[in-house]
Amino acid sequence: MPSEANGQSIGAGALLAILRDGQARTRAELAQLTGLARSTVSQRLDALMSHRWVVTTEDAISSGGRPAAAFAFNENVRVVLAADLGATHARLAVIDLGMSVLAERAEELPIDRGPEATLDWLVAAFQEMLAETGRDQTQVCGVGVGLPGPVEHASGRPVNPPIMPGWDDFPVPEWLGERLGAPVLVDNDVNIMALGEHWAAGPEVDHLIFIKIGTGIGCGIISDRRLHRGAQGAAGDVGHIRVPSSDALCRCGNIGCLEAVASGASMAAALRAAGVEAQGSRDVVALMRAGDTRAARLIRQAGREVGGVMASIVNFFNPSVIVLGGDIAEAGEQVLAGVRETIYSRSLPLATQHLTIRASELGDRAGVIGAAVMIVEYVLAPETIDQTVTG
Ligand SMILES: [Zn+2]
Repeated sequence: MPSEANGQSIGAGALLAILRDGQARTRAELAQLTGLARSTVSQRLDALMSHRWVVTTEDAISSGGRPAAAFAFNENVRVVLAADLGATHARLAVIDLGMSVLAERAEELPIDRGPEATLDWLVAAFQEMLAETGRDQTQVCGVGVGLPGPVEHASGRPVNPPIMPGWDDFPVPEWLGERLGAPVLVDNDVNIMALGEHWAAGPEVDHLIFIKIGTGIGCGIISDRRLHRGAQGAAGDVGHIRVPSSDALCRCGNIGCLEAVASGASMAAALRAAGVEAQGSRDVVALMRAGDTRAARLIRQAGREVGGVMASIVNFFNPSVIVLGGDIAEAGEQVLAGVRETIYSRSLPLATQHLTIRASELGDRAGVIGAAVMIVEYVLAPETIDQTVTG
């Protein structure tokens, strides 16, 4: 039981954090949970209600049988605009604070059109989607964006992104913030997908690795329930880890990178060299589904190569869940089997004892859900809420 002295540090934000599990609670319940005096709980609740973060629900029955007001988190009070921009396609969503998708849109949108054209389109699409949901810009609490390249987290600017001509150092947060009137957070697409998959896996999962096998290969790391970005935001770049058996030339200039043997781009290239028409990762999976044995063999082998790299990561990081996503993961068991086979044979038994290796739960939606998680965790962080309600 926390003491009242400790309780003084429990501000409005911490009280809201308790209510975010969706359960309504009475003043007495909140006083008991926090160790705060009931009068202090009332003050905090008044502050939260004046900003509509909390609403009263139907009367709850207290232990004495007398109705007592219960207080609940108001999931509908604000919305998040979420964008997952890939190399060639974009997915957008309007999402509430309880992670319900209110509107969604997916379109072909080549990122190499450059930042102004892409972001102009994004702003117009978001405005239309807000109108569809009957919301307006004043209800937007933040804009979360995933980009298919390295992003410096502090500034939200792309850093030498290889497939995004014209985007290097472009001030995406300022540009969008001016037009949409809300804070903007930007991260790379794999990190936001990891956030989305971690949200889907549930808060009891502390350590999760999300690996995306698409045109390239990358992974997002959730450590102690937080995204681990590393010193420069480059953590998780497993695509350029050396695979011992390979001497294939990688687009980064090195020899034998994982990406050079197991990515969708490398498999499509191998198929083309064998005289099979394949442009990218989706074609490789489509060929496998159509019964092409060369495509199936490549995908299975790619799973083993990815598993080989992941086996070292499992020993090093000891995750409890590994989630596979990206276009190649759509191949399902063909790729999962290879990944599992190698991880289980090469990792230490203690590290794999309770390890789950599975396909993405959210599929194409992982990015927009993760972008919304990024914003919600920022906006509803207890210290941010404390500042909002007192300032
Ligand atoms: Zn490389």
